[in-house]
Amino acid sequence: MTEPLDKPKRKDPLKRSHVGHVPPAPRSRAAKAMAVRAGQGRFVLQVCKDCAETTYPPRDRCPKCWGELVWRDQPDGATLVAETTVRTSMDLFFRDHLPWRIGTAKLDAGPVAIVHVHGDVADGAAGGARVRLKLCLDRGGNPALFALPETETPNMQDDPQLRTFTANPKHRRVLVTDGRGPVGQAVAEGLIEAGAATVFLGNADPLMRYPGQASIEACEGIETVPLDIGDTRSVAELAGQLGGRVDILVNTAGFTREGGVGFGGKITDLQAGLDIDVTGLMRLAQAFAPAMSGRSDDGVNAAAAFVDVASVYGLTGRSGFAGMAASAAARLTLLAGLKSEMRQTGIRVMSVLTGPVDDEWHQSVLPPKVAPRQVARAVVDTLANGHDLTPVGDIAKDVLARWQADPLLTIREETE
Ligand SMILES: [Zn+2]
Repeated sequence: MTEPLDKPKRKDPLKRSHVGHVPPAPRSRAAKAMAVRAGQGRFVLQVCKDCAETTYPPRDRCPKCWGELVWRDQPDGATLVAETTVRTSMDLFFRDHLPWRIGTAKLDAGPVAIVHVHGDVADGAAGGARVRLKLCLDRGGNPALFALPETETPNMQDDPQLRTFTANPKHRRVLVTDGRGPVGQAVAEGLIEAGAATVFLGNADPLMRYPGQASIEACEGIETVPLDIGDTRSVAELAGQLGGRVDILVNTAGFTREGGVGFGGKITDLQAGLDIDVTGLMRLAQAFAPAMSGRSDDGVNAAAAFVDVASVYGLTGRSGFAGMAASAAARLTLLAGLKSEMRQTGIRVMSVLTGPVDDEWHQSVLPPKVAPRQVARAVVDTLANGHDLTPVGDIAKDVLARWQADPLLTIREETE
């Protein structure tokens, strides 16, 4: 049974941070394609179009008939046929995390695979224990199979091996950037419920009161901090003050106004949106990413993730909200760049895509709209599962699915 994780002790400031090692990035196109699907929480394997063989690990052609392979969602059950505990390794990452359980599993989908094994899968399980496989991303963004007990066990998420494949908020300190809006407040409360040690919640204008202030101030574990992501100095000052105490950063700041491109949009709204959404993201990255990168494998509360909550319409554009969609598009592009930089440091960069949020700026939009609590749940799920792309609500799920199938058609549909 997994022992619950102890709250980490206060770190000796004279002690050096442990340098985190990252496994090499996936080299083949097929491994990258599998990683993209793993990041969305899918369990996929390649299937041959010609002979229907299901294959693992990812390859460019069918190993049986050289046919073309396509990705298919698969049943995640498997039988563990052998398991062992590795106690010595030449690999720099594994040396720091020994002992490490691995095994061989016969997948219900067909192939036999080497898998990481959760501590709660029964000892001596060789010869037939049933397991549930999860397609995970490791610190370097490589896809890997992880064998979990078939049913939930107490403190399952605290397994030290599994924790290296996630950015679970338990015992971690989180900075949520915009505490004046309903989304930032719901995300902060959701993170505290999920076991975060402290949530630093940004307030761009500490002298002005805001809706929800009383309940935020009454919530144990939430600490409001001055942060205006439209101001480079404010961001740098907070980064200097919090130093190495931000383990997860969740950017909930955003600027939404109605308006078109040639008709009804204000240039000043577009400028303000770009400054908050795009330049703001870069200010946060430049102020916080280097310190987080230096602590990516530093014990229970190692720095783990940079999460950005943005509009799904960044993928497509949006009629009536042209400026908002343009800022979201630029924001997603910057995030892709940050993701590739941070992959080399072991910090995960995650994107939560929302449809219209049920707030004061979407009053003219017809339902369904996303409740702030739904965004909070998506942020916590993404962190706890180590995913890197999570759509929230029916609209975002629908837009993302249509965009993946036919991007140009979806752009036309959403801008008409
Ligand atoms: Zn084949």
